[in-house]
Amino acid sequence: MENSKEMRTWLDDLGLDHPLVIAGPCSAETEEQVLKIAHELKDSDVSYLRAGIWKPRTRPGNFEGVGALGLKWLQKAKEETGMLTATEVANAAHVKLALEHDVDLLWIGARSTVSPFIVQEIADALNGTDKVVLVKNPVNPDLALWLGGIERLHSANIKKLGVIHRGFSTYEKSKYRNIPEWQLAIELQNRFPDLPLICDPSHITGKRDMIFDVAQTALDLNFDGLMIETHNDPDNAWSDAAQQVTPSRLIQIMQDLKIRKETDAEAEYNNKLGTLRAQIDVIDNGLVETLGRRMKISDEIGALKKQKNVAVLQSKRWNEILGRMILEGQEKGLSEEFVLKMFKAIHQESINHQEKILKA
Ligand code: PEP
Ligand code: MN
Repeated sequence: MENSKEMRTWLDDLGLDHPLVIAGPCSAETEEQVLKIAHELKDSDVSYLRAGIWKPRTRPGNFEGVGALGLKWLQKAKEETGMLTATEVANAAHVKLALEHDVDLLWIGARSTVSPFIVQEIADALNGTDKVVLVKNPVNPDLALWLGGIERLHSANIKKLGVIHRGFSTYEKSKYRNIPEWQLAIELQNRFPDLPLICDPSHITGKRDMIFDVAQTALDLNFDGLMIETHNDPDNAWSDAAQQVTPSRLIQIMQDLKIRKETDAEAEYNNKLGTLRAQIDVIDNGLVETLGRRMKISDEIGALKKQKNVAVLQSKRWNEILGRMILEGQEKGLSEEFVLKMFKAIHQESINHQEKILKA
């Protein structure tokens, strides 16, 4: 698959002067709820009303979506408000029903993108469709798997494509529900600059208070749009209650987000600079987080040394690390002087930590 401008004509044709916004409840719950949310969003920047009809739940026994009945509510919402509609499909039967009910945008969920069989089944069922189809990243941080999903749709002659970045699950504890791993989305954007890239800060954060910051980061990284879960009564939502915002909060978020516009040469320069700086910020945050994790492990070593009554400084081990890192650094274009300075500083911090533990 090659980068092609054709993939984004559906987005350009909307003629928006702001990022694309897809919003609506995690799950369609009742007809009244879907219509209420649609009416509250119809005069905002939201182009597509989203609602999950079939819900992939991690454990059985939870609410699994209202099923095909909810598609009628989406259709009614479109009739009453003129909004376009969007839902998740996870198999050929879902595709058939969604197309019968004239859903305008279909997305493949993170749990489906991991399965080439499922993606292929969906691609085959959609073959040649003129609907927009978006692929969420797989739950694991695997760019090839994500791209594979797009390639399967592209090969099934589906022209209106895009991707949704919703973060990646990990075993590590984190402030995110799904860690953003921005560098993966940036790589995808570098390879396919014309493929519309949408961020889903709701599933990245899992908490409504964090949505604004993640949405701003996405826009700073030149994402084309946002998908934000929006519910008339978030606390009592039947799924993903903690991460949904009210329609009025969504409208406020859209107003407060800073959008950099490419109008002339200077704007383009600023835009590029801004994108590169945002990339640096992401990496710097990662550096500090990684160093923090390194120190935690160093603390554990300190505790072990204390038990065994061993000295903090073990120069043989340290010289081995330095030698290895200088070689690694050379391969990455880092000078020996820099690698030495950096690791001396890290080592000193580590010694300080361990000393503190030994003295405690
Ligand atoms: C959703 O959008 O409600 C959803 C289930 O998302 P994801 O596939 O990203 O978990
Ligand atoms: Mn959800």
